[in-house]
This record gives sequence, structure tokens and C-alpha cells, in this order.
Amino acid sequence: MTDPDSPALAGLPEPAADIAVECLHCGRASVLRAEALSPGLPLVHLTKRLRCSECGSRAVKAVRVETPRDVARTIRSRIRARRA
Ligand SMILES: [Zn+2]
Repeated sequence: MTDPDSPALAGLPEPAADIAVECLHCGRASVLRAEALSPGLPLVHLTKRLRCSECGSRAVKAVRVETPRDVARTIRSRIRARRA
């Protein structure tokens, strides 16, 4: 079934990208599965809704990542920065 008025159905869906979330307060990093997010949700809106599960801070940064390799790199670089 196709709804011609819906731009979301006008073409193929964009490949889902996961979101790496980092707390700017305590440095906790985690990854949100793209499947759990609303498609096309702007990152800035997502960031406003997020809260750190570790310290409760709302100062979180969200970065779209394309591959598990990117996720690992994001988290690794954060850990390295904390130890430095
Ligand atoms: Zn935190």
C-alpha cells in the first residue's frame, strides 16, 4: 500500500544509522540503535530529549554513526581522552 502524499514513502528509505551518545558531564558513552529512533529525527531534537542514565545530566552529545567501526572508534577515543 502506497500513500502518495507521504514523502517518507516517496522513495527508498535512507539506510539506518545508529546514534552514538556521549554525556558531556560524566563522559558516559552509549549507542542508540537506529531501529529505536524515529526516522528523520533531527539530532538536535534527539539531544534535547536525552538524559544521561549514569549521572542524569542533560548535557549530552549525539553523533550519527554509520558503522560499528565508527561506534567503536567514538567510544575508544573518548576513553583515551578521559585517561589522558
Ligand atoms: Zn553523565
